[in-house]
Amino acid sequence: MSEKFVDIIAAISSSKNVIITGHIMPDGDSIGSTLALGLALEKLGKKVTMACPDAVPESFLFLPGADRIHCGVPKNDEYDTIFVVDCSTPDRVGEEMQELLNGNITVVNIDHHINGVQFADVSYVDSSAAATGEIIFDLLDELGVIDVDIAINLYAAILTDTGSFRYEATTSLTHRRVAKLLEFGINVSRVTKHLFDEKPLEVFMVLKQALKNLYISKCGRAAWISINWDELQKIGAKDEHTRELINYPRSIKGVKIALMFREPSPGLVKVSIRSNDDTDVSKIAAEFGGGGHKRAAGCLIEGDIETIKEKVIEKVLKVLD
Ligand code: AMP
Ligand code: MN
Ligand code: MN
Repeated sequence: MSEKFVDIIAAISSSKNVIITGHIMPDGDSIGSTLALGLALEKLGKKVTMACPDAVPESFLFLPGADRIHCGVPKNDEYDTIFVVDCSTPDRVGEEMQELLNGNITVVNIDHHINGVQFADVSYVDSSAAATGEIIFDLLDELGVIDVDIAINLYAAILTDTGSFRYEATTSLTHRRVAKLLEFGINVSRVTKHLFDEKPLEVFMVLKQALKNLYISKCGRAAWISINWDELQKIGAKDEHTRELINYPRSIKGVKIALMFREPSPGLVKVSIRSNDDTDVSKIAAEFGGGGHKRAAGCLIEGDIETIKEKVIEKVLKVLD
């Protein structure tokens, strides 16, 4: 057995009744990692509850086991261990789930963000991993429990967090892990169709609206896009339909820092920040109470969206100066 997972494997061994969760506004890494670990622990004979602080986005509902994910914390259960995946700070699990962290329970954190907070009894954080799914792959590979359903979840986690292997964090090790996953018999075209090529109409309605609010700075090095609560309501779209908007300002030639502003609920603004050069945008996000990675970060800010846009853009332009 390798040294690196000794503590996590000990925590798994002494657990009987576990709950697994990822972060609020879940992405593919959060959902895929939750499911892969959950299905694996079940194979190891544990009583497993898989949870998510928010509803699972429609595009991830095809993942094996996704119908078993509870939205929120299922009550009346006596968990001995909580596994928190893809979260750098405890507030990422949402208020209700955070209460559980403070109770009489062993907390295990598996994550790949930089500058996180130490909040668990057992932590395994590897910021060189492109996705939490890569770390979970190593763990489950060592435990010898991967099957095709688990492989599909890990593949989805890694594929989504690497932008289909396009982002800088992608390494030869990422590809080696994925090669091993494919050997379990994943139907790649089926999985990628669900993830990327079968979008709800709302995604395009949101894009049409948001492109009216795509702007670039005078210097050409910052660009941003936005959609507010009223606009989302008019379309009848949910927050999950806004996920891809950040790719538009991000892929304009010459842009170094791209931003996306959206209002998932009235008066709450979600900011996504992406870097196309060496600027560490997790530092910018941290100034507004968020975090993330060097090239992809985010934060949630309460207040008026237009005021928040001004403040964050001003900060970004200063950093670029
Ligand atoms: P997003 O813009 O939501 O796609 O997030 C980009 C990266 O930043 C992801 O790795 C997130 O986990 C991280 N991130 C987003 N929002 C927050 C936040 N409020 N606090 C800490 N990390 C965040
Ligand atoms: Mn994530
Ligand atoms: Mn991740």
